[in-house]
Amino acid sequence: MDRIKDAIRTIPDYPKPGIMFRDVTTLLGDAGAFRAAVDAMVQPHAGKKIDKVAGIEARGFILGGAVAHQLSVGFVPVRKKGKLPWQTIGQSYELEYGVDEVEIHVDAVEKGERVLVVDDLIATGGTAEAAILLLRQAGAEVVGCSFVIDLPELGGARRLEKLGVKVASLVAFE
Ligand code: 5GP
Repeated sequence: MDRIKDAIRTIPDYPKPGIMFRDVTTLLGDAGAFRAAVDAMVQPHAGKKIDKVAGIEARGFILGGAVAHQLSVGFVPVRKKGKLPWQTIGQSYELEYGVDEVEIHVDAVEKGERVLVVDDLIATGGTAEAAILLLRQAGAEVVGCSFVIDLPELGGARRLEKLGVKVASLVAFE
């Protein structure tokens, strides 16, 4: 995991003062670290039946697409409101200031399909929680979540576990 952690760049004061932004573009650009991260995101869910991977916009698309390829299953983009071209269903969630919404196409998952949710980072867990509720609203069963980075002080993993979802992450930053 050191290789993965070392490949993540930290940018102080981005996007605003006081925030330490964990930048995964450096990890994605490192062939060995990228492959190691994708393998490690799949591993905790080995043996489970998974029908689809859902990736959260935007870095979750890159990682989720690779995870879906690894598992030989289809991919569902979970997008910010207003970006998808067909009929959608949405789920709103609270931000520090205001509200946002994620959407999927109405036909993105079949009832009973077993879905793995993927994103680069979990902080408060609000975004991933909205994705889980959205997929459940569509009739899917969320069998787990995989993140590269957890910020444990913000309690996101506990929040998702309260929904009954197994959460896996590769590295933590305090
Ligand atoms: P949460 O909803 O868990 O509070 O925030 C997680 C979402 O915000 C994820 O979609 C993630 O991509 C983004 N995010 C928040 N902070 C960071 C960060 O430091 N680095 C990266 N790469 N993404 C972040």
